[in-house]
Amino acid sequence: MNDNIRNSTNRKKKLITAVTIIIAIVAAGCLCNINKCTQKSIFAMDTYMELTAYGFNSEKAVDEAIDEITRLDKMFSTGDAESEITKLNTQKNIKMSDEVLYLFDESKAISEATNGAFDITIYPIMRAWGFGGDEFRVPSTDELDKLIKNVDYRKIKFDIRTNEVELPNEVEVDFGGIAKGYTSSRVADIMRKNNIKSAILNLGGNVQAVGTKPDGSKWKVAVKSPDDSKPYIGVLQISDKCVITSGGYERFFEQEGIVYHHIINPKNGMPANNGLVSVTIVSDDGTKADALSTALFVMGKEKAIDYWKQHKTEFDIILVDDENNTFVSDGIKDSFTEYGK
Ligand code: AMP
Ligand code: MG
Repeated sequence: MNDNIRNSTNRKKKLITAVTIIIAIVAAGCLCNINKCTQKSIFAMDTYMELTAYGFNSEKAVDEAIDEITRLDKMFSTGDAESEITKLNTQKNIKMSDEVLYLFDESKAISEATNGAFDITIYPIMRAWGFGGDEFRVPSTDELDKLIKNVDYRKIKFDIRTNEVELPNEVEVDFGGIAKGYTSSRVADIMRKNNIKSAILNLGGNVQAVGTKPDGSKWKVAVKSPDDSKPYIGVLQISDKCVITSGGYERFFEQEGIVYHHIINPKNGMPANNGLVSVTIVSDDGTKADALSTALFVMGKEKAIDYWKQHKTEFDIILVDDENNTFVSDGIKDSFTEYGK
């Protein structure tokens, strides 16, 4: 890989990591001094995660959560030859666990609801761009035209009674747009099972709040800024919700002055370029929120707002467009304070 590209990606990664750490500290760090609290971090799913829980059982809960993240990382990693996903992508017809079946089912529902803006069969295109590893490249139009013919979630056959999943030869899947959200829901379940009333789980900037802060007030979560013009877009006050953000700035490379990022439009195989630079979903359901953050980013501002209007009761959104305008949906207007206002 070109050194400039590597350096710019590394710089960005460091910045994002720093911002992520700051968010976690702002949200939780100082409270740890005055309450029984456990705070641990882990690098998994290609990102830095920090888990903070309060209460008698907090150490046990956080340790269980870390084991769970490690287990799910192994299950969904396309980079691991032994993962269930890699086995399916190579063997094409296998029996899979209930959990993977659940994600196939959820992915299909979001693909149908978003007219294919979310599509887990995007994987061969991700690889063509080099987003599977670190050797980024711009594929030719011919190459993309050939690959795009096989991107279609309707080609996946699965049976939730027998757990069998079948892919046509050319089709490969990637849960990169949904697995972290599922993981945050699972980790929140572990907290609740351990009777934790207060936890803030930061999975690489995707934040899941459990309950409220120990003093009963809401968690304050800083929503990541897509660029360096401000430290964060604003602060959201939440309890028992997840805040999941998609943005091209999270993984990208630059070639001849053009930036290519990792959220791909399944209609043409190109990085989505529909006027949005960041989409944040606020919801009770991490799995849906993650898939929707990717889908709405692909759809662009107008369609994203239309989609939200039809599903207002299920989630809220914060959109940032490429002219730096922020749209905040009605349900969270009163709990969101924009940076500098
Ligand atoms: P996120 O950060 O949640 O938006 O997820 C981005 C990741 O989702 C990428 O790194 C890919 O693994 C995958 N992905 C990219 N484009 C799509 C798409 N249109 N539908 C589903 N998954 C996608
Ligand atoms: Mg997503």
